[in-house]
Amino acid sequence: MNEAFPPVTEKFPVLVTGGAGYIGSHAVLALLDQGWPVAVLDNLVTGFDWAVPEAATLVVGDIADADLVARTLAEHKIGAIMHFAGSVVVPESVENPLKYYDNNTVRSRALIAAAVAAGVPHFIFSSTAATYGIPEVVPVAEDMPKRPINPYGWSKLMTEQMLADATAAHPFNACILRYFNVAGADPQGRAGQSTAGATHLIKVAAEAATGKRGHVAIFGSDFDTPDGTGVRDYIHVSDLAAAHVAALEKLIAEPERNHVMNCGYGRGFSVLEVLDAVDRITNVTIERRLEPRRAGDPPSLVADNSRILATLPWRPQRAELDTIVADALAWERRLADR
Ligand code: UDP
Repeated sequence: MNEAFPPVTEKFPVLVTGGAGYIGSHAVLALLDQGWPVAVLDNLVTGFDWAVPEAATLVVGDIADADLVARTLAEHKIGAIMHFAGSVVVPESVENPLKYYDNNTVRSRALIAAAVAAGVPHFIFSSTAATYGIPEVVPVAEDMPKRPINPYGWSKLMTEQMLADATAAHPFNACILRYFNVAGADPQGRAGQSTAGATHLIKVAAEAATGKRGHVAIFGSDFDTPDGTGVRDYIHVSDLAAAHVAALEKLIAEPERNHVMNCGYGRGFSVLEVLDAVDRITNVTIERRLEPRRAGDPPSLVADNSRILATLPWRPQRAELDTIVADALAWERRLADR
């Protein structure tokens, strides 16, 4: 880690919305591990109360409940918000776009308004590589065109725009983190992806490897990629969580109105490479079935991560595909034992 900015000495409480969910729960752990007090606001629709560590305070409720949010910000003396709460399934966003514009856009607007009204100066937002749509150039950099190809991507891009405008108008700093493909689980086994009905490749493959499903579908083998299957930049959830803490410390040390940073490793793996890794690690061959492409899947999505590397002292710690897969598998086995 470089010493780009001084360590934060005064650690104030951080509100983590969606802190009972997959990525949010890892951010809670990363904050607590670094000595930040944490309050979680989660409606527990897709999150789990047991995913919130005892050291954090859980407030059950919705980010659009203005009274509850105002009360929570005041009572807990919140100095920063990490906003993870939202809906994340791309195909569902195509079938039910208004749900996505409500959960990810309208409700985020309410939360941002509450933060500005309460004078909470720092806001870190979960955005997505889905804002790029099908990039013309891979690896894709932050200032390349944003042309989402599904309502999920639009719902997040609209919130990015609200944040950009709100930071220009108010004494309010935001850091927008655009995640590539998040996978894996806490290496200490304290958290992982627990939501039923998973659609994301590494989670699906981990379920297949632990006998929870019979096969894995390969959605398309005729893409213009080295082996014909889709290529993605898989980032370990603990590295992603660490990026959030680094982004918070950056905002505090050098308040700047609106940062946007890709969160990825700058390299991609194909579906076949991921499945090969799972087979190799488990010594079991998962049944693979070739299926047609899914609507709206870009052939290749890889981050240009030079901005985050230049801006934050953050460095990847668990970027090996085998590490990501092994951590995902370990969590899947724990879930099976629950
Ligand atoms: N994929 C697949 N089978 C699955 C799930 C995903 O072949 O059961 C492929 C998908 O087409 C894409 C890659 O794996 O090329 C990553 O998909 P995922 O749903 O994990 O994330 P996305 O990139 O869509 O956000």
